[in-house]
Amino acid sequence: MAASRYAVIGQPIAHSLSPRIHPLFAAQFSIELSYEAIEIAPAELAVRLPQLHADGYSGINVTLPHKATVAALCESVSERAQLAGAVNCLKRSDTGWVGDNTDGEGLMRDLARLGIAVASQRVLLLGAGGAARGVIAPLLALQPKELVVSSRNPWKPEELAERFKGRGPLRPCTHLALKGDHYDLIINATSAGHDGSMPRLPGPLLVSGGSCYDLSYGKAHAPFAAWAQSQGAAKIADGLGMLVEQAAVSFEIWLGKSPDVEPVLAALRNS
Ligand code: NDP
Repeated sequence: MAASRYAVIGQPIAHSLSPRIHPLFAAQFSIELSYEAIEIAPAELAVRLPQLHADGYSGINVTLPHKATVAALCESVSERAQLAGAVNCLKRSDTGWVGDNTDGEGLMRDLARLGIAVASQRVLLLGAGGAARGVIAPLLALQPKELVVSSRNPWKPEELAERFKGRGPLRPCTHLALKGDHYDLIINATSAGHDGSMPRLPGPLLVSGGSCYDLSYGKAHAPFAAWAQSQGAAKIADGLGMLVEQAAVSFEIWLGKSPDVEPVLAALRNS
């Protein structure tokens, strides 16, 4: 029997680690699976997605720049993906694609794996882009004492507070207005690290013994890691664990099996 076909689509796509992660998951269950990285330009998405269905693909991961636009091409979209305003996982149905978002669940699992608590904690989320939007509802579901969303652009946190109104104690803020605040957990969901920078923040913001988590990984993690160290963080984590955990959620959606993330994470870190 031919191996089931899976893929990640985006542009650019060569950097994606997903084609390394999923075969390692599949090997844990002796499942035959092919997983490709397919570059698709935004203008081609509406034509290529039905083609991938016709070609028999069973599941697709979606990355930039298609996460927000692919929903319109799905026959249905999960509630969490609608809330996040982004789809990163497609499961084949007989007639089309069912969209979901595994990023939020991926972060929650990684925080749990690392023993970083959210319940009853004061949590600061830096950044108000697509990734921030995807993690707010699951963070609020863990019942933090307060979740403050802060961004360079003062309007974006306001819009997010409106979007997630009634789901928990979410407070929009600007970076400057954080002055004098102290948080148990600070999560970096900005993309500043990709250009080697760190958002400008006012003074100490972390309680003694607090934790810092960065959605970025690799070289992009370095500026936040240095800042977290200067804040005296007891735990500092990058987003590689979230990446592997969100992939595990996709794998579960597609194949109904829960892979062990630890050996896969170790393999990625060792390479
Ligand atoms: P977006 O482009 O949607 O949002 C980026 C955010 O970063 C915006 O709030 C933007 O601020 C802010 N920002 C960018 N540059 C700076 C800067 N120099 N100083 C301060 N703020 C800045 O990106 P995403 O939300 O999709 O991604 C954010 C990060 O999360 C990326 O590094 C991405 O790789 C990572 N990520 C990791 C995942 C994982 O599995 N580990 C999954 C998804 C994302 P403003 O609004 O003011 O422009």
